[in-house]
Amino acid sequence: MTAIILDGRALAQELRAAAQSNITALSARIGRAPGLAVVQVLGDAASARYVRSIEKLCAAVGARCRVVALPADAAQVQLEVTIDELNVDPETDGILLQLPLPAHIGTDAAIMRIDHRKDVDGVHPINAGLLAQGRPALVPNTPAGGMELLRRYEIPLRGRRAAVIGRSAIVGRPMAQLLIQADATVTVCHSRTADLGPVLRECEIVCVAAGRPGLVTADMIRPGAVVVDFGTNVAADGSLVGDVDFAAVAEVAGAITPVPGGAGPMTNVMLIRNLIAAAQQ
Ligand code: NAP
Repeated sequence: MTAIILDGRALAQELRAAAQSNITALSARIGRAPGLAVVQVLGDAASARYVRSIEKLCAAVGARCRVVALPADAAQVQLEVTIDELNVDPETDGILLQLPLPAHIGTDAAIMRIDHRKDVDGVHPINAGLLAQGRPALVPNTPAGGMELLRRYEIPLRGRRAAVIGRSAIVGRPMAQLLIQADATVTVCHSRTADLGPVLRECEIVCVAAGRPGLVTADMIRPGAVVVDFGTNVAADGSLVGDVDFAAVAEVAGAITPVPGGAGPMTNVMLIRNLIAAAQQ
């Protein structure tokens, strides 16, 4: 293997320690620990696992975490009243609305209800708009974690050609915006992109968030390129795999994130960073 491994697990550990000392200082200043509220409409098993991991992380770094669980058949109005209460609760600095919501709930309307200053997931259109304008915003955690990895490994971005595969509001689009802010020249690819290979081979940076195992193969990668794989897919044998053919691409790329242990572990720690930023406002 020739590529440097961008070790998100190790970096996330380091950032956790930094977050913990920032929270200690912040708590002393504001007279209480920063508070996160996780709003969860019950029924999604993966979501329940994620909520437990957030609770554990908050406890480890000294943040307060309150889970507000609503029944699976909760009405839209019940969810929105819950969000309204948290918006005005002085001890709640950040609100994380667990997605996906059940089909009977309007996700966009629920997200719109969150006070954008408490939107630690960076999903509110005001934060997306601020990010698109290159202004300070609460940025979605997964792309923020990818950028932090690139920054810590001192990967040059200015003037580099970057491709982002995926255009979701939570990963692909904000990643593209962050790369633009870092002065990269960015191409966004999606399921209607005619041929990924010629686009990717032009690029020194390739970020993949499609949820399609094996989508990016070694022949698509320019020798020495940096590859960030956000994909999280469960393979037939139950193992976790990304969107990139890791073994083959690592022979061509200059640096690559593994799955697991790359972009994934960075996400939660970036949530804590957003919580600190929201509490400081
Ligand atoms: P999503 O909302 O399903 O979006 C997937 C994007 O990929 C869409 O824009 C889609 O294009 C594009 N796409 C799908 N098939 C493609 C193909 N064959 N060629 C090119 N583009 C294709 O997913 P998401 O929420 O952004 O998540 C993407 C991946 O990241 C998933 O594996 C997810 O599990 C992972 N993820 C990881 C973390 C983490 O590490 N903590 C967090 C969030 C997500 P269209 O727009 O045309 O449909």
